[in-house]
Amino acid sequence: MKENKEKVFSTRLLKWNKSTNNRQMPWKGESDPYLIWLSEIILQQTRVEQGLNYFLAFKTKYPRIVDLADAPEDDVMKLWQGLGYYSRARNLHATAKRIKDDFDGRFPSDYKDVISLKGIGTYTAAAITSFAYNAPYAVVDGNVIRILSRVFGLDTPFDTTEGKKLFAQLAQQLLPEKQAGEYNQAIMDFGATVCVPAQPKCAECPLDNICVAYQNNLIHLLPVRSKKLVKRERFFTYIFITDGTGHTFIKKRLEKDIWSNLYEFPLIESDTSIEKGFKQRINDQFNVKVESIDSYSKEYHQLLTHQKLHIRFVQAQISQFEGDKLSGYVRIPVSSLAEFAFPRTIALYLTENRLV
Ligand code: SF4
Repeated sequence: MKENKEKVFSTRLLKWNKSTNNRQMPWKGESDPYLIWLSEIILQQTRVEQGLNYFLAFKTKYPRIVDLADAPEDDVMKLWQGLGYYSRARNLHATAKRIKDDFDGRFPSDYKDVISLKGIGTYTAAAITSFAYNAPYAVVDGNVIRILSRVFGLDTPFDTTEGKKLFAQLAQQLLPEKQAGEYNQAIMDFGATVCVPAQPKCAECPLDNICVAYQNNLIHLLPVRSKKLVKRERFFTYIFITDGTGHTFIKKRLEKDIWSNLYEFPLIESDTSIEKGFKQRINDQFNVKVESIDSYSKEYHQLLTHQKLHIRFVQAQISQFEGDKLSGYVRIPVSSLAEFAFPRTIALYLTENRLV
C-alpha cells in the first residue's frame, strides 16, 4: 500500500543515514544557521570538494554575519573568485547586510523570514530551518527529485508546474516531522552517494525492493525533463593592452549579465570567433593606436547553465597612453592584477601566463 511504502521509505533512509559515515563535512551537524546558509550557498552549483576550501576561508575571515555584512564588496568577491555564479556572492553580502539591519545581526528562525531573504529559495530555506531548528520543511532539489521519481516510478516531467507541485507535495508527505533535519540530511546524502544520476549503486541500496525504477529497469528513463536546455554560445576576445610602462587596463562589469561586479580586460564580443583584423578592431572599438599584436591565446571554454563561452586573449601594445582613450577603463600596474577579482577563465589565463 502506498501509505506503507512512504513510511518504509523514510524509515529506511533514516536507518541508512545512521549506519553510514558518508560525507563527513565541516558543516555537517552544524546548528549555526549562518554557517549552514554559507555552506548551502557555496554548494549550489558547486562540487563539495571544490566548495570545501571556500567554506573554510569564509568561515575564518567572516566568523559572524556582521563580519560579512561589514566587509567591502570587493573583498567578498575576491574571496569568492574561482567559484563561479557570482550572483551568489553578491546576494550573500546583500543578505548579510539585511540581517544586520533588519534582524539585529541574528539569522531569522522563522521560515517566512528566511525565505524573504535575497538569494534564498525554498530548498535553501528548508535546509537552513530544518538543520538549525528542526523545522518541518522538506528539501526538494535535483537529488530529491531523482530519488522520488525512481522509487515511486513518477514520470511526470519535473520541470513543469504540475511536476514541481507533485514532487514538492510528495517530499513534504515523506518528511518525518520530528526528525526533519536528520531526514533532510539523509536524503541529500543518499542522492549524492547512492542514487546518483548515472550508475546508481542499486546493489547496495536499502530501497531496492521498493524502487519502481529498479524493479522495472527504468532507472535511466527517470526522472523525466520536458525541455531540453539550449545553451547560448558567446564569443569573447579580451585585449590585454600594455602601454610600454608596465600598465594595463581593466574595468568592473556592471551590466546585468554574467560576472557582474567582477573585473575584466577590454572586451570585444562577437557572434563567431574572430580570427583576423585584430589591430583595426581594437583601434576602432577602444580609440587607441595599436603598435603590435604580441600574442593570441588558445581558445578557453567555460560552461554556464545557459551559456557556452568561447574566450580568447590577445596581447596588444599601444605606444602612448592618452587620457581620453579607453574611457571607462582603469589603468593599473600589471603587478597589481592579483588584487582584483576576475572571472574564473581570466584568472586562469593570468596564472598560466604568469601575470599574477
Ligand atoms: S534501487 Fe537504485 S535507482 Fe532505486 S533508489 Fe536505490 S539506488 Fe536509486
